[in-house]
Amino acid sequence: MSLLAVGTVAFDALETPFGKTDKIIGGSATFITLAASYFTKKINLVAVVGDDFRKEDIRMMEEHGINTRGLQIKEGQKSFFWSGRYHNDMNSRDTLVTELNVLADFDPVIPEEYQNCEYLMLGNLTPSVQKTVIERLRKRPKLIMMDTMNFWMNVALTELLEVLTMVDVLSVNDEEARQLSGEYSIRKAAKKILTMGPKVLIIKKGEHGAYLFRDNLVFFAPALPLEEVFDPTGAGDTFAGGFIGYLASTRDISFENMKRGIIYGSAMASFCVEKFGTERLVHLSKPELESRVQEFVDLVQFEISMV
Ligand code: AMP
Repeated sequence: MSLLAVGTVAFDALETPFGKTDKIIGGSATFITLAASYFTKKINLVAVVGDDFRKEDIRMMEEHGINTRGLQIKEGQKSFFWSGRYHNDMNSRDTLVTELNVLADFDPVIPEEYQNCEYLMLGNLTPSVQKTVIERLRKRPKLIMMDTMNFWMNVALTELLEVLTMVDVLSVNDEEARQLSGEYSIRKAAKKILTMGPKVLIIKKGEHGAYLFRDNLVFFAPALPLEEVFDPTGAGDTFAGGFIGYLASTRDISFENMKRGIIYGSAMASFCVEKFGTERLVHLSKPELESRVQEFVDLVQFEISMV
């Protein structure tokens, strides 16, 4: 079923203990749509770039079945630019530069053919734009998921809290969950955030896995211990794209199916970090994905009898 994804399509410049990149393709919507493309081919993108954005990168997205009709290209303007440096643990990073450029006055236009989407993924983006997208859909999607980050909590908290009341699923990392709730305990933070609007909360913990909370239910998926971790950029968005792409392809939003979605999202994220930027996500095969999911199953499956 059709998935509408909104977010940033950007240039990133990255520094990790393993090397540096010049401006490469990044952005929340880029990782989300690429990850989701391994599950469903009805993906519609709404985003904005400047005329500095490379045509071959847009073509690459189209080759993955991503409909880019809703990608606005602003003549004479520059694309969103983000630069980050990872610490040695690869789990924490400093943002060096955030240049909003075209994002500063982004007016998200929803092409007519995108109306009636069943799944909406609001990737990390200006909260007021996330809200406008929901308002511009004539029919409320079956599931609205949203991702955000500390940057928006710092500069646009009021708008962010408003969008929260309009969505079904929120995904944030553990530090963001703490900042949003004012609670240190992840369990208490989840309880509080679930009173702010979303019915489902995903808390990502980087190389330590991810939690799924719904009512009083909680599920945990580990992250795979990988031999090669080059660049964690986009892992959270890739996770979200895999999760919602899987839900959209199975058309099942039960808690049990969301658990499977968490595993698929984690598997996609594990590929993302193995190379810089989108490199690993661009050429992935179904058998590779299936065997990675099996590794997750093997990692946590055990038999036990109570003594
Ligand atoms: P993640 O590693 O999952 O947090 O995602 C990193 C991606 O988010 C990068 O490709 C950036 O281009 C993009 N990004 C960084 N800061 C922002 C922001 N403030 N709003 C939207 N996207 C951002």
